[in-house]
Amino acid sequence: MSERKIDTKCVQGGYTPKNGEPRQIPIVQSTTFKYDTSEDMGKLFDLEASGYFYTRLQNPTNDYVAAKICELEGGTAAMLTSSGQAASFFSVFNIASAGDHVVSSSTIYGGTYNLFAVTMKRMGIEFTFVKPDCSDEELNAAFRPNTKAVFGETIANPALAVLDIERFARAAHSHGVPLIVDNTFATPVNCRPIEWGADIVIHSTTKYMDGHGAGVGGCIVDSGKFDWTKHPDKFPGLCTPDESYHGITYTERFGLAGAFITKATAQLMRDFGSIQSPQNAFLLNLGLESLHLRMKKHCENGLAVAKLLKENPKISWVTYPSLEGDKYYNLAQKYLPGGSCGVVSFGVKGGRSAAEKFMKNLRLAAIETHVADARTCCLHPASATHRQMNDAELAAAGISPDLVRFSCGIESSDDLIADIAQALEKV
Ligand SMILES: *Cc1c(COP(=O)(O)O)cnc(C)c1O
Repeated sequence: MSERKIDTKCVQGGYTPKNGEPRQIPIVQSTTFKYDTSEDMGKLFDLEASGYFYTRLQNPTNDYVAAKICELEGGTAAMLTSSGQAASFFSVFNIASAGDHVVSSSTIYGGTYNLFAVTMKRMGIEFTFVKPDCSDEELNAAFRPNTKAVFGETIANPALAVLDIERFARAAHSHGVPLIVDNTFATPVNCRPIEWGADIVIHSTTKYMDGHGAGVGGCIVDSGKFDWTKHPDKFPGLCTPDESYHGITYTERFGLAGAFITKATAQLMRDFGSIQSPQNAFLLNLGLESLHLRMKKHCENGLAVAKLLKENPKISWVTYPSLEGDKYYNLAQKYLPGGSCGVVSFGVKGGRSAAEKFMKNLRLAAIETHVADARTCCLHPASATHRQMNDAELAAAGISPDLVRFSCGIESSDDLIADIAQALEKV
């Protein structure tokens, strides 16, 4: 399906039924799979044959959906995870261990920041955070001999900074490490980071991909392009025998196309069990079938709302990458020419209390921690998702105390604009 257009891949990618098979992907609601002989099963455990044995590691429903996202992103292998957080964690932990170091953009999702700066630090992995618009000198200075990866978000949640993917990929590759990009807000409909040099792409499928606020989930896609074997000293987990799998060397057995995802499945899923339920994978696939249509509408509404806010005297500032004059407009034109996302960030004059008053008066837009949903929702990150951060960390993440994250759904833009206008009148 690789030559087909993205719209077709959204609808039909990942699963092609054979004669007489179900048209919609089957939900394989089974924890386990039956074999005729112990020898058959033994081959699966040795990774000598491919097949299913236990849903904690792999399930056919999940694999159909992972294959669709893999096609959408233009990768060689993919896996679903129970959440976006699990995808972020696995993507880094698959190649970094205690004593290692990772360079990350500072404008990342609050949950990811906490995972990196607090929890993974406790595991002995250190992160250096750099601004997405730092100079090449600053970026290169962040690397250490033990650096194993670079991490960033295509469109940062909620700062809406656009990552210069080519520049970050160049820096990562010149230091012999891969670039991992969280493509949650852009989705592969609007940007395919692998085409710009990213090596691993991850998603919180909870957001636009599911799109209906129905199921939490994540996904990891490998481009198959990063040559781990050129740096065997940096990536021993991929390039030397895995004693927990009878001495398999992942890059030798599965090649560059399959090594990363096979290792993440065989080791991390086996040990952490952050599997997505087949039911949720089914719901995710329903969402993916209309992703291309919904993204158009999210972007249309996002631009309409951003333009309205820009003109409103009660608004102190507006950030929307597709809005002319935005700090990231040029990068958005390069990486997201067809549209960015439905999320607009802005400040209400009068700061935190004015923002809270504005949000209380909204009728259509609901206050939720959720974002990137069919229904319009909004959030004040400084008092919710990012409340663990101090002011300096907030500033580095591109979040001011007055920032309102407004996530345009796929309702009529007339109704959204009327809702915002009436709420602003009361401020
Ligand atoms: C929500 C989000 C995550 C975390 O995903 P969950 O599915 O909530 O675990 C990671 N990255 C970005 C950009 C997000 O918006």
